Amino acid sequence: MQNFFVLLGGQSMITQLRIMENKQTVIHFALCAPEELDESDRKLVELARQATHTAYAPYSHFCVGAALLLEGGTCVCGSNQENAAFGAGTCAERTALFYAHAQYPDAAVKAIAIAARGTDGEFTQQPIAPCGVCRQALLEAQKRGGQPIRLLLAGRTTVTVMEGVECVLPFAFEEIV
Ligand SMILES: [Zn+2]
Repeated sequence: MQNFFVLLGGQSMITQLRIMENKQTVIHFALCAPEELDESDRKLVELARQATHTAYAPYSHFCVGAALLLEGGTCVCGSNQENAAFGAGTCAERTALFYAHAQYPDAAVKAIAIAARGTDGEFTQQPIAPCGVCRQALLEAQKRGGQPIRLLLAGRTTVTVMEGVECVLPFAFEEIV
């Protein structure tokens, strides 16, 4: 397993401004092989992969699956559901999140695994990350649950692991450093 961090906060643009204070934020993530995950995480990745087969994606042909682990051990899956009126469709992550809250409103989300198959029908080589809207929805679920949601972004041979939604959404709506 390899651990990484990314520093956000460039100097070149902000040096043109009057600066009261310079700040940086750090994003931690780990890259690991699927077999390095513990059994619970491996199972969640497998459920996300299976969920890609329930996608309704006649327009993008990009099939995404998401699997949530809820407090208490229940798993809930979702997939992207498209529509001819594009804005009416929704992503796999929000399909799973909203279903989970509708069925288990008191259960905190502990982890989410996300996997995708591309237009060739194969799982993507690289992990895919949730879109901006889903990041915001995940952050709210995390706040509601009162504990970090572990992200498992599954590529074909590597999984990116992050401990908390803020790792993919450092400057969230209504929240600034
Ligand atoms: Zn999304």
